[in-house]
Amino acid sequence: MHKIVITDRVAEKGDRNSVGGFPILAKHQAHPHCKICDAQMALFLQFDLKPEFDLSFLENSHFLAFMCPNHNDIPTVAEDFLDSAAVIPDRYWEQEEGHFTLILNPPNIEEKIGECDPFIQAKQLDFVKAEETIEDWGDPEAGISLIVGSEQGFKIGGTPSWFNYDCQANCSCGAKMKFIGQIPTDFGFTQIPNAPKQPDEFSSAEYYFLLGNQVYIMGCSSQCHEMAAIAICDN
Ligand SMILES: [Zn+2]
Ligand SMILES: [Zn+2]
Repeated sequence: MHKIVITDRVAEKGDRNSVGGFPILAKHQAHPHCKICDAQMALFLQFDLKPEFDLSFLENSHFLAFMCPNHNDIPTVAEDFLDSAAVIPDRYWEQEEGHFTLILNPPNIEEKIGECDPFIQAKQLDFVKAEETIEDWGDPEAGISLIVGSEQGFKIGGTPSWFNYDCQANCSCGAKMKFIGQIPTDFGFTQIPNAPKQPDEFSSAEYYFLLGNQVYIMGCSSQCHEMAAIAICDN
């Protein structure tokens, strides 16, 4: 497991690991726009899946998380993934209301660098290796297991620190959904001064992702599509 640390260093054009900053997209990808209001989405977070993270994805894949600056709400379709018997629809990422976008691009593709995000302060990320303990918070008498990692903070890899449930579902392609990382509860992303205040939040200094819930990000382990990823909220 690696803790994600937001540094004081400004993220410049070409920096691949940042909050805010310059989105690194595949050459064919447009910057995401909100399906509800058509606003250009804010780049909250992007990072490479470095080999040392020891994840279940192609090494050096690139992850990006965007959300509409006007629509701060939780996902809907991701709840289906909490029911291991649920049939996950094809192209489930298009079934969401469309106020946020997760992208996991494979490595060694042609890329392009977008404009600097105008909402969230562009800062480079550091990754600090750390240990966590793994516990079973389930109910053994009921035959329920809930495997939980002890690190509840901002992290990549390791074991999700589930609160109430976990995700055992498969992607619509049949491959297992695997953990990428998590954003902790009430985690503020420092906004650029004079950027509009985020609706539904008390702070005019920070933006929150998916209403400030604890967010667990999972991706299709066969990376069947660049958008085959989900965000599960809990609090
Ligand atoms: Zn919107
Ligand atoms: Zn898949």
